[in-house]
Amino acid sequence: MFERGFLIDMDGVMYRGGELIDGADEFINALLARRIPFLFLTNNSQRTRRDVATKLVRMGIKVDEKHVFTCAMATARFLARQKPGGTAYVIGEGGLLNALHKNGYAIVDKSPDYVVVGEGRTLSSESLERAVQMVAKGAKLIATNPDPNCPTDEGIRPGCGAIVALIEAATGIKAFSVGKPSPVMMREARKEIGLMASETIMIGDTMETDILGGVQLGYRTVLVLSGGTRREDLARYAYRPDVILESVADLIRPPSRLEEFAPSLNREDDTPLDIATWAAMRPESQRGTIHAERRAGPVF
Ligand SMILES: [Mg+2]
Repeated sequence: MFERGFLIDMDGVMYRGGELIDGADEFINALLARRIPFLFLTNNSQRTRRDVATKLVRMGIKVDEKHVFTCAMATARFLARQKPGGTAYVIGEGGLLNALHKNGYAIVDKSPDYVVVGEGRTLSSESLERAVQMVAKGAKLIATNPDPNCPTDEGIRPGCGAIVALIEAATGIKAFSVGKPSPVMMREARKEIGLMASETIMIGDTMETDILGGVQLGYRTVLVLSGGTRREDLARYAYRPDVILESVADLIRPPSRLEEFAPSLNREDDTPLDIATWAAMRPESQRGTIHAERRAGPVF
């Protein structure tokens, strides 16, 4: 089967703060029209996939929840596989609580199997103290993602990585992190849209998560400069993306940069990455069945 698809970061790729990035809606519309599989990948565990899809729809991007995959979902599925029917003490919000419930987890205040730390504004000194005591007594420490901060309209606020660092420092125990760039989330997302590693293209604005995760999994990587990374920052990294674009608009507006992907991507199964050709080559019978092809697994 000839197939290609995109894993797409959201903040800094689709929007910045509350504002849509120019051309992001056109890019998604092009994927939808050509029935090219894609999945939004976010390291924000605060919201459910439905909340995230609603935010995108309000910005004019006509997607639904099946197009969204959060680190909260990846974390909950991971825990459900590791210890089915387990218990968790959670520092986080609705997206994380919901995903854990849907995967058979009970949220508890005492003697949990796991302390799971995510994103949000529910953090208190009491919850931190409790988490530290639980981890010291043997609960496993899980981080939904490693991001040290989250962008807000006023600047940044402490993210999951910063909160977890406090618990790690207090207990001397390192957390296991599930979100991008962890292979746990990167691989789960790829499987969600039924693609092979060599068929998967990761688009993101952050080197430490989106690009590193893609490089480690053998995906093709596209760095967009519409978010937090500048071209001159790349000198600091030992790894680099396959392609660098100003924004996703470059993928669809003439002169389209899509053709540039092919020469730099010399893999065995490589085929020129022109979206129109690609869509046309997908057998008619397989169009529109992207999500039906997903493997059976946890529902959320
Ligand atoms: Mg981003």
